Amino acid sequence: MIAPDLPTAVDRLRDLIESSDVVLPFTGAGISTECGIPDFRSPGGIWTKMAPIPFDEFVSSQSMRDEAWRRRFAMQDQFGDARPGRGHRALAALHRQGKAPAVITQNIDNLHQDSGIPAANVIELHGNTTYALCLDCNKRYELPWVRERFDKAGGRAPDCPHCSGFIKTATISFGQAMPEDAMRRAGELTESCDLFLAIGSSLVVWPAAGFPLMAKRRGARLAIINREATDFDDIADLVIRDDIGAVLEPLMTR
Ligand code: NAD
Ligand code: ZN
Repeated sequence: MIAPDLPTAVDRLRDLIESSDVVLPFTGAGISTECGIPDFRSPGGIWTKMAPIPFDEFVSSQSMRDEAWRRRFAMQDQFGDARPGRGHRALAALHRQGKAPAVITQNIDNLHQDSGIPAANVIELHGNTTYALCLDCNKRYELPWVRERFDKAGGRAPDCPHCSGFIKTATISFGQAMPEDAMRRAGELTESCDLFLAIGSSLVVWPAAGFPLMAKRRGARLAIINREATDFDDIADLVIRDDIGAVLEPLMTR
């Protein structure tokens, strides 16, 4: 059912959460828009102006790696200071209350960790853009380290000093393999939850979009919070087409 108004939505959501033992939040870019990070599909965002660089282009061309890092540093200047929003804080509260053992996220912005959920309990399906990894030896590099070398070399992306591998943000690009461990854990959690909360995702990016479907097939209840309709609204037990921060903020006070 679609909640008719905000107070009803909040009441229904609270009832669903209170009658569940294991709540599994699954978040997309919509939870971070109030923090100033644009989502993928809303009009006007940087993502609509710059098509993402697919993985095969990143590994096959120095100029694509340079471009990827140029964009990354431009993003850092725009949203590097973003702080968790009301949605992140409400989910951190659910975690502390023991209701939500972990959060599955498609986001790469680290804001769930910043809101206080331990990194081990944030399952990142698309990686994390706040640090970098060598694609060959997996050594971790921090962004200021990459930037210093990038700037000194006049905008050329640096390679790994240990193995000469390519250094890339720790994100999963289109065409790159999904992270096995995160996918496995997300699947296990989805099978064991009794309430799956899809928050701020258009639910069109696969295989991530398969999780709400899997939850429903396994007998969990499904609630969708997104200001636009999604393809899964018909199978959801509760659909809330409202602002995420406004819907989740009341959950912080019981
Ligand atoms: P999406 O852009 O496809 O969908 C976001 C949805 O959230 C949209 O349907 C939009 O209507 C809704 N939304 C936006 N702000 C909202 C608000 N305040 N209240 C309610 N609804 C709101 O995002 P997606 O499904 O996560 O897929 C995009 C992919 O791009 C992700 O997989 C992710 O890897 C990447 N991405 C990440 C970030 C981030 O880390 N913050 C930002 C943009 C894109
Ligand atoms: Zn290396």
